[in-house]
Amino acid sequence: MMFKEIQFKGLYQLVIFFCILFILMSCGEVADKFRIKSYTPYASFGIDNRLTAPVELFESMSGLVVDIPVVIDTTNIGAAGSCIEYNDGEKAIVINIDYYNQIKTNRYKEYYLEEVMLHELSHCILNVMNHDNTVITFNGITIARSIMNAYTLNMIHYIKYREYYLDQLFDADVSIYDYNWE
Ligand SMILES: [Zn+2]
Repeated sequence: MMFKEIQFKGLYQLVIFFCILFILMSCGEVADKFRIKSYTPYASFGIDNRLTAPVELFESMSGLVVDIPVVIDTTNIGAAGSCIEYNDGEKAIVINIDYYNQIKTNRYKEYYLEEVMLHELSHCILNVMNHDNTVITFNGITIARSIMNAYTLNMIHYIKYREYYLDQLFDADVSIYDYNWE
């Protein structure tokens, strides 16, 4: 899942960004779920205790057990989080420590972590491969249809329509129009 806010400090970063963007778009594959050959450095890791709340939410909603490493670490992937699948079939979720540091003092920190974690857990545990980059117009605003959008959701929208987003993750056909919003 990609950072929503991207700041450019110079032409160099801009060029690099568009090169990466082109690579991501040109391969047609999700940016943050991929397979790599090297051995996972997280094989003996459990679930980082800063991320247990969203993991437990996912487990209660899905009825599944999250039995893969979930860590906060440095990453050169350039995404807020990623589901990595290694060639031996092992998986790990890595939340980008830069992203974590960016949101850790935010008043909505728990929602930021929840949103990115539900996205990556869907990749890793539910094997949802493709992003849903559909947007919908609701109450006169344009919002992402799904947590599986490639970009982190607008947090105000996520919190406001959280009930819908959680339902939609496990039932793609749920409609936001079916809810009684104030
Ligand atoms: Zn993704």
